[in-house]
Amino acid sequence: MTEVNEKLQTKIDLSMPVQFLKGVGPGRAKVFAQLGVHTAEDLLEYFPRDWVFAPEPIKINQIQPGRTVTILGLVESTDYQSFRRQPIFEAQLSDDTGLCRIVWFHGKYLCDRLQPGQVIIVSGKAALYKHQLQIANPKFLVVDEEIADSGQRTADSKRKLNAERYFSGGVYPASARLSSGQIKKIIAPLLGNLGGLVNEFYDKKFLKKAQLISRKDAFSWIHSPPDEEKLAQAKRRLKYDELFLMQLGLALRRYKWKHFSAAAAMEYDEKIDRRIRKRFPFLLTEDQNNVIAEIVADMGRSEPMNRLLQGDVGSGKTVVALYAALLAVANKRQVAIMAPTEILASQHFISIERYLRNSKVKRVCITGGLTGKKRERLLKQISSAAIDIVVGTVALLQKDIEFSRLGLVIIDEQHKFGVHQRAQLRKQTTPHCLVMTATPIPRTLAMTAFGDLDVSIIKHSPPGRGACVTRWVEPKNRQKAYEFIRQRLKVKKQAYFVYPRITNIEENGDLKAATDEWKMLSTEVFPEFTVKLLHGRMPSVKKQQIMAEFRSGKIDVLVSTVVIEVGVDVPNATIMVIEDADRFGLAQLHQLRGRIGRGEAKSYCFLFSRTENEAAKSRLEVMTRSNDGFEISECDLRLRGPGELFSTRQHGLPDLKIANIIDDYELLIMARKNAFELVSSDPMLTGPEHKNIRRALLAKFGDSLGLADVA
Ligand code: ADP
Ligand code: MG
Repeated sequence: MTEVNEKLQTKIDLSMPVQFLKGVGPGRAKVFAQLGVHTAEDLLEYFPRDWVFAPEPIKINQIQPGRTVTILGLVESTDYQSFRRQPIFEAQLSDDTGLCRIVWFHGKYLCDRLQPGQVIIVSGKAALYKHQLQIANPKFLVVDEEIADSGQRTADSKRKLNAERYFSGGVYPASARLSSGQIKKIIAPLLGNLGGLVNEFYDKKFLKKAQLISRKDAFSWIHSPPDEEKLAQAKRRLKYDELFLMQLGLALRRYKWKHFSAAAAMEYDEKIDRRIRKRFPFLLTEDQNNVIAEIVADMGRSEPMNRLLQGDVGSGKTVVALYAALLAVANKRQVAIMAPTEILASQHFISIERYLRNSKVKRVCITGGLTGKKRERLLKQISSAAIDIVVGTVALLQKDIEFSRLGLVIIDEQHKFGVHQRAQLRKQTTPHCLVMTATPIPRTLAMTAFGDLDVSIIKHSPPGRGACVTRWVEPKNRQKAYEFIRQRLKVKKQAYFVYPRITNIEENGDLKAATDEWKMLSTEVFPEFTVKLLHGRMPSVKKQQIMAEFRSGKIDVLVSTVVIEVGVDVPNATIMVIEDADRFGLAQLHQLRGRIGRGEAKSYCFLFSRTENEAAKSRLEVMTRSNDGFEISECDLRLRGPGELFSTRQHGLPDLKIANIIDDYELLIMARKNAFELVSSDPMLTGPEHKNIRRALLAKFGDSLGLADVA
């Protein structure tokens, strides 16, 4: 039996299913699968969640209060006291020399994990509490059940098992059916065989320069660190590798998009430029000109453009997009412009109309409301290239719409589109692609979630914008705010009132709802003004009509939900009230506020909130302090953490197991630079020195990036 096992062990390779590892059978393989571990490689990358450097275990009668100690003992009894102000979970631990009380504050989760009869090791600071020895909130480990079963039943004999082996080092994220100690034992043979399992990615020179330890040492030390210093080195190396492989995937994705598909190269000269610029009743800003230069250069190549255009609301992206569109049209190519909502699509269409009045450029707006014969006729015109610019929503992605000469796709992303839809459209043909976003993306996300795109940024808005003042209004100042708003309305300014929800019939009756508040505002607060309601559930014709009335100034106060979040452009609207503002995320608040301050007049944003929540308060505080979208997005990322904003899966990237794009920013920069350099020097990674990297990349990304054909 042992012989078979030894044979098995020598043959371990990374792709081996965990089931065939020593100590794992079909049952445990299932438990591992739930933890996301399928192969030996997954197991090697199943990193401890914590590490302990515990002192040698001692007997209970040797414990001195005030010292950090490790003891091993038998759980005599457990008790959970939920009624206390601070609920505690308590266990009495014994060895052959005495008894010790162990407590965990808020330890409800332990009710399922610790039971009388178990042998556990705990490590923590000892103290005297009411004359009794106590260790509070220690780290602990249930000694491997297998060994507990096979051994004699006294705690004393188990002490000989050398607690350190089980306790010092890594503590794995365990499950009820697989303890950290068991995982440790299963990984051990892999660690003994790392030479045959882990292959180095980089040459010695690079490792030295980048101050990275070898990959083999990194795996050894992350699971079983000799000391904290080596643990830190191991983490750094593994984080780097993880970020490097991710960036390599992105670099390859970008390379493939550029080199395996051809786009129409757009010709460009001064005459075309002059003709396009004539369409704009103002001079373009320096930022706009710079971005246009980047886009023109991209579109001049037969490699498809894949560019992300970032700029705050009102910074002048639409103008840039229209420039690109007209360049394509000048080259007899069609353009599809897509927006996330119907309102935004028609808004885009209206502003395009404004610039294209009397132009020969054929343009249409296609929305879901368009049906029957009319729709059919338009689709025919699109497929015969009789129409140059098509504006619409995702409806444009529907299969029955065919462009015969699609040269440019402009996607106003506004954080509502996923990468998935982008990819879908790309399949149709290979147009140049420009993605616009009004929510500035933090640097870290631009390099990861959107890391395969080239990025252009408009930092400064066009001149002539009035300042925007943001105030956080507490309940006691509500009337004062209303009075202030009344004065502005009297001089013909317009206001938005934004609510987190439409009606209150649903769940949380505590929140202010647009429908109820609209009645109150129109009858009680502002009876002398025209107050109208707009929300997402209205038929689209009605929505369009209300927006048109607001734009023309017939409506003084527009009460709405976040449907006005995107794209609505009414320069005379200089006041915005956001009710229960703490219910909105930072990015959303910033988007909403972007609806005002579009004209020359000074504008005012009032954030009404009753919150006592600290996180919500920090968000509101950031809003009153900053108008800079990039600064706000960085704060947002820091306040929320990367997990919430950045789902790797959603972007077709592998999970990050150890690196964190915020905390490991420096490593991310270094990894990105090196990955992109590697792809430009050896795009297919066919060089023999890149063999190990390529293997790891394929194992990580599998087919999700269509990398299989790279091999
Ligand atoms: P975005 O799409 O980034 O929200 P827009 O392109 O819609 O911004 O521009 C916002 C407003 O600024 C529009 O009313 C537009 O006419 C105006 N605008 C854009 N560029 C300029 C410029 N260079 N000079 C003056 N006004 C501009
Ligand atoms: Mg716009």
